[in-house]
Amino acid sequence: LTSSPTCPGLYVIHIAAEMAPVAKVGGLGDVVTGLGKALQNRGHLVEIVLPKYDCMQYDRIRDLRALDVVVESYFGGRLFKNKIWVGTVEGLPVYFIEPHHPDKYFWRGKFYGEHDDFKRFSFFSRVALEFLLQAGKKPDIIHCHDWQTAFVAPLYWDLYAPKGLNSARICFTCHNFEYQGTAPASELAYCGLDVHQLNRPDRMQDHSAHDRVNPVKGGVVFSNIVTTVSPTYAQEVRTAEEGRGLHSTLNLHSKKFIGILNGIDTDTWNPATDTYLKIQYTANDLQGKAENKEAMRRHLGLSSAAVRKPLVGCITRLVPQKGVHLIRHAIYRTLELGGQFVLLGSSPVTHIQREFEGIANHFRNHDHIRLILKYDESLSHSIYAASDMFIIPSIFEPCGLTQMIAMRYGSIPIVRKTGGLNDSVFDVDDDTIPHAFRNGFTFSTPDEQGVNNALERAFNLYINNPESWQQLVLKDMNMDFSWESSSAHYEELYLKSVARARAASRT
Ligand code: ADP
Repeated sequence: LTSSPTCPGLYVIHIAAEMAPVAKVGGLGDVVTGLGKALQNRGHLVEIVLPKYDCMQYDRIRDLRALDVVVESYFGGRLFKNKIWVGTVEGLPVYFIEPHHPDKYFWRGKFYGEHDDFKRFSFFSRVALEFLLQAGKKPDIIHCHDWQTAFVAPLYWDLYAPKGLNSARICFTCHNFEYQGTAPASELAYCGLDVHQLNRPDRMQDHSAHDRVNPVKGGVVFSNIVTTVSPTYAQEVRTAEEGRGLHSTLNLHSKKFIGILNGIDTDTWNPATDTYLKIQYTANDLQGKAENKEAMRRHLGLSSAAVRKPLVGCITRLVPQKGVHLIRHAIYRTLELGGQFVLLGSSPVTHIQREFEGIANHFRNHDHIRLILKYDESLSHSIYAASDMFIIPSIFEPCGLTQMIAMRYGSIPIVRKTGGLNDSVFDVDDDTIPHAFRNGFTFSTPDEQGVNNALERAFNLYINNPESWQQLVLKDMNMDFSWESSSAHYEELYLKSVARARAASRT
């Protein structure tokens, strides 16, 4: 197969369901790539294992080739063959797993949302470990993400460490506790896990029913390191109100649980080099930003009559978490305040998609409002560059990346104070915060008054104090949201965990 490389740093393998830009649904994809690249830059050897989806962006994979091996993996009482591909994405080596299973698990034209997701991803988790074992890899850290690959933690300790894949510590990152992937307990048996052993309240049993198992709970219980994506969210999910049934498990395992704020990939998200933009620009040359705004207005058929009309952007999955009713409200309020609004979003929830299609149609030929209801990477870059303000009225937000990307492109965030938004956006009018950190507009209560108050203050500053606005734009563009410090945090956690394991094995 492939030999286990030697590297003076740590050997870290991420097993994940997403990776930007080849297979991205949301922030998870960005994190796998951004964290992976940052750790690689710090001298560690990083590899990624992904499913080989039919709907990936194959043009963004370099040197994709099939390995001359077949990995046989157990599932539901049988062995299935898997073809392993290898390629490079954003400079990171990636293994892609292509199952030869009659159910064509990753040949569905989409990443998630299938009736058999539990099977698809428990299958994938097991093949990923089987591959590492058969390839003779000796990683120091196996890092799994979200419920889709949380199976890795119990599979590793129950099945693969005894088989000899025993060099690693397991790190599990939960990017959103809303999605726990619960299923009838019997389904756990397909991937070879022992239902009787694991369907217990202190292991994988879901809090809601005795006959359901919860992969996220398994990830928390069986990993050496458990992280989530911001310090505030880590606190929030330890409460009964926001823990989605996992607060007591998280409190029980609090010693190994920590929130680390995500960074953004500052190569991908760089207005000075971004080839998706009409014109690249920097904080020293904001004329380019104005030209992007003008180009976007022309592209979308919005009025350009008033140059200094504030343009509010919003790029999001349209799901209840994101405060869809407040997004809708912000569209109408922006219009009343004399601004323009561009929304780029799509929804997996039919009634929300329909509702927003109604609003999009209503404003189809409007001079100041445009709703584009699809996923569009290229357009997203143009909107960050074109907009003056960026609204994120989330009900909860584990970390949120769009506020950081917006700031890097000189678009001022207007956000609800929750989760990672609370750790990255600080109100310009909050005297308790040092001036250097104040970078946006925030509100606490997730209601229309909250949105109005923050939006009106932003409009007021933009219209009545252009100089202060420009200073704010410059400040935000120069803030550091790179993976630099967050990846150092992960490195420290990894190193401590590896050191503990080595110390324990010596005694
Ligand atoms: P979440 O992971 O909850 O979706 P994040 O803020 O962490 O939210 O990450 C969202 C990422 O997905 C950002 O990179 C954002 O630009 C991107 N994104 C969201 N919706 C769209 C869309 N419709 N088109 C293009 N990119 C999108």
